[in-house]
Amino acid sequence: MKEIVIISGKGGTGKTTITASFGVLAKNKVMADCDVDAADLHLMLHPEIKERFEFKGMSKAFINQEKCTRCGACEKVCRFDAIINTGTNFYVNQLSCEGCRVCMNICPVGAIGLEDDSNGEWYISETKYGPMVHAKLGIAEENSGKLVSIVRQQAKNIAEENGADYIIVDGPPGIGCPVISSLTGVDLALIVTEPTFSGIHDMKRIVEVANRFSVPVKVIINKYNINLENSAAIEKFSEMNQIQVLGHMPFSESVIESITKGIPVVEFCNDEVSKEIISIWDRVVESLK
Ligand code: SF4
Ligand code: SF4
Repeated sequence: MKEIVIISGKGGTGKTTITASFGVLAKNKVMADCDVDAADLHLMLHPEIKERFEFKGMSKAFINQEKCTRCGACEKVCRFDAIINTGTNFYVNQLSCEGCRVCMNICPVGAIGLEDDSNGEWYISETKYGPMVHAKLGIAEENSGKLVSIVRQQAKNIAEENGADYIIVDGPPGIGCPVISSLTGVDLALIVTEPTFSGIHDMKRIVEVANRFSVPVKVIINKYNINLENSAAIEKFSEMNQIQVLGHMPFSESVIESITKGIPVVEFCNDEVSKEIISIWDRVVESLK
């Protein structure tokens, strides 16, 4: 079984377009949407939720107002400024609290406790293309790295049960904690980039992260024909770093139409961009043999 993650240095580079199409093309696989902060693979694969689970991310402090003597000690020690002093009472701002317990330890009357905060949900679903694990993180919640790990682990469990050949992961954008959680231990990371100045910059940063975790990477240039000079710069960087450029997707209106209609582009039409994604998938399969 091979695990492939599709990532990009920033959102909006076509990562989900490619992942959804791989979902159509790969025959025996489990899909996992690890872009838990802005999940959108479901808009293309239309999962039917079979099981729903609460995600408890981080414990948060709370103050028992009946015990609190309003001494203010907790406010002084909280380095996250999570204690709100209204002048008459002290409260914990749940969005700022990091659950570090310092206030609990300092409170002279034991008025502060910790409770698990429900940070979102994760789901095991069925799609017409096969099983899918995905999640929804609560608004302004952190801990997405932990939720990514849960989604990946569940996808792995299902893949093992089903004897799947592939786990295809829609990774989060950027280079932060959720990306690291989605990268570590995969068989291949496909970096989707665009021939823009920021696209090249973001790709270099994500390559560095992948190298740090010894993850094999390959590159896909999306909309390569909007700036051939920048596409050549991506090619050159890839060559210098021994990274294979696996495909060049041209700009295509049909991609936008397919997203609007919620249909993976390889199913939506058979134009140049679809053919290129099919070729890229064939190369992925070949490279993992
Ligand atoms: S648990 Fe830590 S972060 Fe939360 S309120 Fe107490 S001191 Fe502040
Ligand atoms: S340290 Fe305890 S008693 Fe003092 S204000 Fe905070 S919660 Fe209240």
